[in-house]
Amino acid sequence: MNIETKCLHAGYTPKNTEPRVVPIVQSTTYVYDSTDDVAAVFDDPTKSLIYSRFENPTVMAVEDKIAALEGGIGAMCTSSGQAATMCSLLNILQSGDSFISTATVYGGTINLFAVTFKKMGIECIFVSPDASEDEIKAAFKPNTKAVFGETIANPALTVFDIEKFAKIAHENNVPLIVDNTFPTPILCRPIEHGADIVIHSTSKYMDGHAVQVGGVIVDSGNFDWTCGKFPEFTEPDESYHGLIYTKSYGKAAYIVKARMQLMRDFGCYPSAQSAFYLNLGLETLAVRMKQYCENAQTVAEFLEANDKVESVNYPNLSSSPYHELAKKYLPMGTSGVISFVIKGGRSAAVKFMDSLSLASNEVHVADIRTCVLHPASATHRQLTDEQLVAAGINGGMIRLSVGLENINDILDDLKTAFAAV
Ligand SMILES: *Cc1c(COP(=O)(O)O)cnc(C)c1O
Repeated sequence: MNIETKCLHAGYTPKNTEPRVVPIVQSTTYVYDSTDDVAAVFDDPTKSLIYSRFENPTVMAVEDKIAALEGGIGAMCTSSGQAATMCSLLNILQSGDSFISTATVYGGTINLFAVTFKKMGIECIFVSPDASEDEIKAAFKPNTKAVFGETIANPALTVFDIEKFAKIAHENNVPLIVDNTFPTPILCRPIEHGADIVIHSTSKYMDGHAVQVGGVIVDSGNFDWTCGKFPEFTEPDESYHGLIYTKSYGKAAYIVKARMQLMRDFGCYPSAQSAFYLNLGLETLAVRMKQYCENAQTVAEFLEANDKVESVNYPNLSSSPYHELAKKYLPMGTSGVISFVIKGGRSAAVKFMDSLSLASNEVHVADIRTCVLHPASATHRQLTDEQLVAAGINGGMIRLSVGLENINDILDDLKTAFAAV
């Protein structure tokens, strides 16, 4: 199946007289004929369903669809993108370990890595996404167990050189984890470039309609967990009668362990209802991503030609320092998210934002509707103008998430707001 077809058909194939649409199985529990049947699933939880804290037929249909879209061997949904990031790393790391991440990852991710993981005894070593091979190699320590980056960073819009980071991670016998939220598997499939694990906030384009918060972890099945650095995969798990993940589950060791250990213990699993909404979004993902890119390209070119705009950051523009990487990894486009700096600083930005009528002011991105955010007034509100400069955020910077309205209506709205500044 091609990817457009997978969006509609992967993960659920109804048999004779079964429902056409994946059913919502809103049940916490599953029934067994005998005590022996229950005992058997506790011996091998992959044999049947136990409890909806970590598995559910509706959610699993969506997991199979996303695994197919990314080209992985398995996936596990989570109740948020944050939970996916957390589990993707805690499945590998423990207290005393470190990992490497690019410094331009999502703000919530930076907080998780630099503050909360630190409290748990896990160190994150940040490197620039533009770091040279030597700089990345120099960041490794003997206890470094993973490398992490975002295909297109939110909100910095830097493009991650997946092949470069994958090569160095593999030379050091550690996996590369890629947050592929903004491109979605329609615009980029990191596994094809060497990523071992792919994660998403499904709250963004995958859902697309802003109706559920969710995340997902996809396992490529390609990483060799028996390389000697990961005893948790190759030594008996006492919480499962001495089961050894690499022995019992082979290539699927990572994703089975994530569900059987972490999801069992943390319980950050989505509801069937949320997975159903996510699936509706996924069905139209291929069509939507193409249109987001087309609309955003037109808007980015319009902004670049506007004399009230100081600069435009959109990796698909030839003026972007990430244009070459974007052509390589994102040949179909770089999603609907643009950031730009309006001349006149903070007050001009606020005036512009408040003069928009179609685009809504919201702390969300990658919605089907055009939306805007002024980082200096919202996510970075506590900073003074001087601190904003130090943090690399211009008071006049606006993040614009271009939606699927008619392009002329989007442009008219922007033109009206510029006229008011
Ligand atoms: C939003 C976002 C997250 C966090 O996801 P939530 O679903 O909000 O928890 C992680 N990574 C990226 C790139 C995001 O944009």
